[in-house]
Amino acid sequence: MRPSSNAPLRWPDADTLRERAVGAYLGLAIGDALGATVEFMTPREIQARHGVHKELTGGGWLRLKPGQVTDDTTMSLALGAAILEHDGRVVPDACARAFDAWMRAKPVDIGNTVRRNLVTWRRTGDPQAPASEHDAGNGAAMRVLPVALATLGRPREAIAAASRAQAHVTHHNALSDAACECLIALVHAGLRDRPQAGQAAIARLLATQPVFTPPARRVDNPSGYVVHTLQAVLQALAAHADAESVLLDVVNRGGDADTTGAIAGMVVGARHGAKALPRRWYERLDPQIREACCTQAVGLLAHVTTA
Ligand SMILES: [Mg+2]
Repeated sequence: MRPSSNAPLRWPDADTLRERAVGAYLGLAIGDALGATVEFMTPREIQARHGVHKELTGGGWLRLKPGQVTDDTTMSLALGAAILEHDGRVVPDACARAFDAWMRAKPVDIGNTVRRNLVTWRRTGDPQAPASEHDAGNGAAMRVLPVALATLGRPREAIAAASRAQAHVTHHNALSDAACECLIALVHAGLRDRPQAGQAAIARLLATQPVFTPPARRVDNPSGYVVHTLQAVLQALAAHADAESVLLDVVNRGGDADTTGAIAGMVVGARHGAKALPRRWYERLDPQIREACCTQAVGLLAHVTTA
């Protein structure tokens, strides 16, 4: 018998859900580490130096060790820890304190908007940055994953509020908000194996903020502008079925490749699970980061009710 249309949507079993949540975190970190090598390079420069860049070799303008990650992953982990300290809730003050402690620990890199608005927070104590149409960078979107895990199964309004609570600490901008909420929905769709919900989230983004509509041409050299970042990621997601191909496509476009890699990685990791990520990448990833990602994914899921 076919389930009626108002039958509750079934949840994946707990093991499957956990495997996908861990996959999302590992995908984020792997995409970050993979892309960082070619950040700020053009596709032509990447081609000349690497052919196709496909290993976690480190290097790049940050002179990273093989498997080392950047701010995309470390800010996500700082945010996830703050959410866990508050029993799965996204508390703006706690996010601001976590990001500030992260900044004081001298991360390998930091975005200008993040730095500027955290410095402002130190002065004002207000965990919501002033709204700015200029703060449409991808810095809030790149660290959205812990919010996605903590809000799985919640109503859309509650998800949006949680998303903005973390995002507005540094990026108080409508385009950034729309991107964050779309990415959370894509992660949720992957975790619950609901591809149609993912397509609906993209359609909602393009209907409410048409500027995100990917152009017919390939978006190469995507900038840190969240629109360009998401266009490149959406094109790569649409072009390939498997996790490895999506990641190789997006990072070999160069530009803000660590962040396009991180964002594409969290989506494909949620969709296909940790086992779908190439073993060689998993093994090369910084072991401390790998451990932190697995622990945090499981910890955040523990706050989710799938009743
Ligand atoms: Mg980065």
